[in-house]
Amino acid sequence: MWVATIMRQEHTDVLVIGGGTAGFAAALAAARQGVEVTLLEASSKVGGVMAFCPGMPWGGGYPQDQIIGGILEELTRRLEAMSPPAAFKRTCTLDNFGPEILYDHDIATLTMFEMLEEAGVRCLLGATALEPEMAHNTIQSLTCCDRRGLFRVVPRIVIDCSGDGDISAKAGVPFQLGDSSGNMMAVTISFHMSGVDCAAAFADPDPYFEAYAAKGIAEGRLHPDLAKLYLMEGFHPSTVFCNSVHIRGVNGTDPLDVTRATQEGRRRCHQLAQFLRSDVPGFEKAFMTNLSPTTGVRETRKLQGVYRLTGGDLARGTKFADGIVACDNPVDDVMRADSDMSHDAALQQGDFYTIPFRCLLPEQIENLMFAGRILSADPMAFASVRGMPQCMAMGQAAGIAAWLCIAANTPVQQVPFEKLVAILSAQGVNRLAQSADKRIAALAH
Ligand SMILES: Cc1cc2nc3c(=O)[nH]c(=O)nc-3n(C[C@H](O)[C@H](O)[C@H](O)COP(=O)(O)OP(=O)(O)OC[C@H]3O[C@@H](n4cnc5c(N)ncnc54)[C@H](O)[C@@H]3O)c2cc1C
Repeated sequence: MWVATIMRQEHTDVLVIGGGTAGFAAALAAARQGVEVTLLEASSKVGGVMAFCPGMPWGGGYPQDQIIGGILEELTRRLEAMSPPAAFKRTCTLDNFGPEILYDHDIATLTMFEMLEEAGVRCLLGATALEPEMAHNTIQSLTCCDRRGLFRVVPRIVIDCSGDGDISAKAGVPFQLGDSSGNMMAVTISFHMSGVDCAAAFADPDPYFEAYAAKGIAEGRLHPDLAKLYLMEGFHPSTVFCNSVHIRGVNGTDPLDVTRATQEGRRRCHQLAQFLRSDVPGFEKAFMTNLSPTTGVRETRKLQGVYRLTGGDLARGTKFADGIVACDNPVDDVMRADSDMSHDAALQQGDFYTIPFRCLLPEQIENLMFAGRILSADPMAFASVRGMPQCMAMGQAAGIAAWLCIAANTPVQQVPFEKLVAILSAQGVNRLAQSADKRIAALAH
């Protein structure tokens, strides 16, 4: 019988699991404070969903048209300052969404990795965290693997930015998978069409191309779930980003389900590309590029934190005393098993809410935080907070908090939130404590 052997053991101050937008910012923020940071990323690239759906705009970065600031702003400015510019801001074509940032995907992921290198983060690509070893209320070590075999990491603080929260769940953090019935938002395979005559393609202002889609479905050439073809101009001239092929009923934590959805999604993308070429003006000479390397998963586990953000908090425009990022994104719900797409406004026009730091804290485990799309939120709040800018900002807050815990040798539940918020504000994160709703100053510690 083969018995797996632990090949090596490593120590680190902060272990960040997952190099998506949340993990990138968590690792960067912590390392810049001078602590030792190891970032494990299971795939071959940083970015997470951003890398799995290349070219997807950063949405939600400008609540009420003011940038959220912090690491998102720094990255954007760095890309904008390049020659030629590798990012720009534009208006989103959908109702209720604020402006979005479009960027060159390859330059953006390269730059993110460079920023991690500059900060001294030890990045391990192709490395997966497998199993936490617990001692009372702390994660003592994690068994991980890369192509050389198993290894153990002994961290002081763990920040789970894995999107799915496998490690937090194994460590005993309660969670909700999808909505109250277990339905998760659809997963998506994206692609670009290159060589498009964009003036002709976008002559009709309908961003969903519904009249064309209806014809394709009626003729049996497009899957019925393609009734709304969400097409938008890509970063590079003559390219169109297709965020249209959604597969329902997929459990993003089940590798077999994800494999099936990936292949089925690619098939539907190919059909859609052929349809665009033959039926939609402007696409006559276009061809498919940048097909997703795997499915983009919107929603799996929502972990239970010290606080659970609710749709009611959003509707009231709540500005928490421990708020770490502003947001005004609509409730962007995409094709659960029993419903279609919606992006209804989450709150009154002209207002915004903030995401409280307590949504990143487990109730029991003293050296674990989570950031990004696994935060503690109800399904309605989740559908609004999940944009990449907000995930980056959550990561930034968790990274700073990890340093505060190490410096004071305290559990994560005792992070002084006033200090955290003050540091984030000093780092350029906009609209935090000064906008906090005084009625909601009673915090859980
Ligand atoms: C199809 C789609 C369209 C979207 N459209 C937009 C949009 O237009 N604009 C916008 O702003 N947002 C959009 N979103 C939302 C946004 O992309 C995500 O919510 C956000 O990227 C999540 O970031 P994250 O860092 O929390 O997680 P992820 O991006 O999921 O990153 C998690 C990372 O962790 C890694 N990982 C997982 N488990 C482990 C492990 N055990 N060990 C090591 N690594 C691990 C994964 O490989 C991955 O790289 C969209 C999402 C999807 C799926």
